[in-house]
Amino acid sequence: MGWETVIGLEIHVQLATVSKIFSGAATRYGAQPNTQACAVDLGLPGVLPVLNARVVEMAITLGLALEARIAPVSFFARKNYFYPDLPKGYQISQYEDPIVEHGRLTIRLGDGRDKEIRIRRAHLEEDAGKSVHDAFPGATGIDLNRTGTPLLEVVSEPDLSSSQEAALFMRKMHALVRYLGICDGNMQEGSFRCDANVSVRRAGAAALGTRAEIKNINSFRYVEKAIDYEVERQIDLLENGGKVVQETRLYDSDKDETRSMRGKEDAHDYRYFPDPDLLPIIVTPAQIEALKRLLPELPGARAIRYCQEFGLAPADAEPLSQDRSLADYFEALAGSCGDPRQAANWLNGEVAATLNRQGTTIDLCPVPAASLGALLRRISDGTLSASLAKQVFEVMWTQRSEPDAVIEARNLRQVNDGDALLALVETVLAESPEQVAQYRAGKEKVFGYFVGQIMKRSQGRANPQQLADLLRTRLAPP
Ligand code: ADP
Ligand code: MG
Repeated sequence: MGWETVIGLEIHVQLATVSKIFSGAATRYGAQPNTQACAVDLGLPGVLPVLNARVVEMAITLGLALEARIAPVSFFARKNYFYPDLPKGYQISQYEDPIVEHGRLTIRLGDGRDKEIRIRRAHLEEDAGKSVHDAFPGATGIDLNRTGTPLLEVVSEPDLSSSQEAALFMRKMHALVRYLGICDGNMQEGSFRCDANVSVRRAGAAALGTRAEIKNINSFRYVEKAIDYEVERQIDLLENGGKVVQETRLYDSDKDETRSMRGKEDAHDYRYFPDPDLLPIIVTPAQIEALKRLLPELPGARAIRYCQEFGLAPADAEPLSQDRSLADYFEALAGSCGDPRQAANWLNGEVAATLNRQGTTIDLCPVPAASLGALLRRISDGTLSASLAKQVFEVMWTQRSEPDAVIEARNLRQVNDGDALLALVETVLAESPEQVAQYRAGKEKVFGYFVGQIMKRSQGRANPQQLADLLRTRLAPP
């Protein structure tokens, strides 16, 4: 009998505010340890937290994008526990009444099907500090700079059925929060990380199995590997008569395994209670309306529009719509070259490959959309073949030049002149009587030889279509 995997993710989205959630201290990454935690972050006596209004706007913005319910009233609670990096002895979070509830996010599966993943809730909370284990021999350092950094924790329903789905969901959420501009998405710096709750059950069973929670995963690849390992571990355990215990585990990427960290606490262990220092968060319909109006056209809607308006295939529209800068660039390019499909092909092909190779993003692309548009027009009007255009593009990229200047300077204009092409064809055929005979005897592969010879003589500038037509006519049996 087979096993089914059940996964729910808790994603910690660090909100891209300038200051902390309850104080004016800076949130900038990489400062000297303990230079960015103020009296409020440390919970010193006599200080009071004051809510940063921006975090509420950002939470509502994501809630709207997830088609969720925005709570008109929600509360902060204290989650009490001791840890060296938590000087107050409690974390301010939201418990029973989170600001966002009942949303959804659709992922596109490998086979092209869409699957809707329900979002249970998203709540605001403050981050804790960091224990530094590798800076001092035999001692642990505490850096409290991160204390009080705003987080939005997004919790999915256990709707994910494989490690691949979990990674797709994490990627989709990552793209969305960056698109909305509420998180910088930097996973190395911990701005976007997740806990994966994993259980298995017999195929078709109604009840969920006991889950383990794998903490603090900060890469798409690791989420997949950690879950794969964990699923196998649980199945092994169950098939050998053992039992899964509810616990918190850590993923060790060096050993590619998960290890038990501690038994899983239940909510009552944390003695949650409403924080008496903070007022309820009140969200008015007018505020929601105002934020709705500020919401950009979302990736899903944008992809659909590209298919309907521009006739793109969904597989081409999807990658162009997930990143706002890329989508903006695409629209500018489509307008400037007048051919959206050609624009999409170039962006998903040559441009994406070059960005990838250079390890950079569209924001830093040295070729502006208008210049690339001018290049694509030179393909449409026959000045360039696709392969000549790629050469010109390379020069534009490194020298930041305009296509016409490159075409003139390097003499890259395509040869479309029938007489000139025919002359080339005649020369090459005259020089290769053996190959001509072979071709006419049925060895069609030799065709490529002729094309190669002629391309060489024209420095790659012969119009490939015209050339093929001419060759075929000339090679037909006399
Ligand atoms: P807690 O707050 O204790 O971490 P929750 O019940 O709020 O636990 O669930 C947290 C996450 O765990 C959610 O994403 C939920 O979908 C997921 N989850 C709950 N039960 C299971 C289960 N049996 N298997 C897999 N995931 C689960
Ligand atoms: Mg949890």
